[in-house]
Amino acid sequence: MPEQHSVSNSAALAKYASLDQRGSLQAEYIWIDSVSGVRSKTKTLTKKPNSVDDLPEWNFDGSSTGQAPGEDSDIYLRPVAIYPDPFRGGDNILVLNECWNSDGAPNKFNYRHDCAKLMEAHKDQKPWFGLEQEYTLFDEYGHPYGWPKGGYPGPQGPYYCGVGTGKVYCRDIVEAHYKACLYAGIKISGINAEVLPSQWEFQVGPCEGISMGDELWIARYLLHRVAEDFGVKISFHPKPIPGDWNGSGLHTNVSTEAMRKEGGMKHIEAAIEKLSKRHKEHIAVYGDDNTLRLTGRHETGSIDQFSYGVADRGSSIRIPRSCAKEGYGYFEDRRPASNACPYQITGIMIETICGGLDE
Ligand code: ADP
Ligand code: MN
Ligand code: MN
Ligand code: MN
Repeated sequence: MPEQHSVSNSAALAKYASLDQRGSLQAEYIWIDSVSGVRSKTKTLTKKPNSVDDLPEWNFDGSSTGQAPGEDSDIYLRPVAIYPDPFRGGDNILVLNECWNSDGAPNKFNYRHDCAKLMEAHKDQKPWFGLEQEYTLFDEYGHPYGWPKGGYPGPQGPYYCGVGTGKVYCRDIVEAHYKACLYAGIKISGINAEVLPSQWEFQVGPCEGISMGDELWIARYLLHRVAEDFGVKISFHPKPIPGDWNGSGLHTNVSTEAMRKEGGMKHIEAAIEKLSKRHKEHIAVYGDDNTLRLTGRHETGSIDQFSYGVADRGSSIRIPRSCAKEGYGYFEDRRPASNACPYQITGIMIETICGGLDE
């Protein structure tokens, strides 16, 4: 059988990428589908938009994405944020959208809508978030990227922040993604190679309010797109390799303005107290298959029990040592799985620590 080439021919594409667009620009409309994937399609615009209000609503066939039944399949795309497009460059843009049904209700998988309401209701508290997105790379045949064929690499140890052949995999993709995020204006705050070989992490934040979910989804979109160029698959599964290998999380760092000021520790402690009473509700929206990851091993807490501690990587909530010393700062919720929705995480976080919509 001839070898299949699904890798795009970037060299050939480069010839066309710099052609004059004669004043028109390409807007890549992006949305989140029914299985926490991202989808996108392109629209030509004849005028540069100044804000999302200048952008037309659009639609797609929701029956092809599991977002609508066949007999009423139109789903509407409502633009909510614009970013420079690192793939097309120039005035071309990426447009993040919310999905709405034809009856005027938010689509079932539109978790942004409720999150935005909560963020708006509590914006005076200036909530900041920082998300640590862990993920794993697989080759196009579904084999962990760079792993020996039909075998396993040596045990975990040399790979975390690893340097050198055999200790680090796929640095090129990770670097390309980092640059793409910077170009798009995503507040990517860093990257590191993780404990499992071919597992990495990028951090986005601090971001205020609803922008956290927006920026993380765009960063995920960029990662999938960059990986296409290398013929590599991105997995956000929280336990990508069974056995004695680390899982992937989406550690969620949180602060309100009061927590960031002198004396903030009492606000952090009050938040943790509230979180301890809603463990089950949080776990319910902290991602699928999280039971496979939150085992109390591999730097995780147990899924059944809430716990917290200073500098404790085996607890649900960790207060960074530096914050405990200074008496203010932020806390880290280590429970969310890598495949969780940032709108659901940040939404329930604000609901628990700041209150619901009428508080
Ligand atoms: P870890 O030590 O757990 O690996 P990282 O350095 O990977 O932590 O990630 C920490 C994240 O916390 C970053 O995204 C950073 O922007 C974010 N962060 C820093 N300060 C705050 C704060 N006051 N509130 C919320 N998030 C913050
Ligand atoms: Mn980290
Ligand atoms: Mn990590
Ligand atoms: Mn962390």
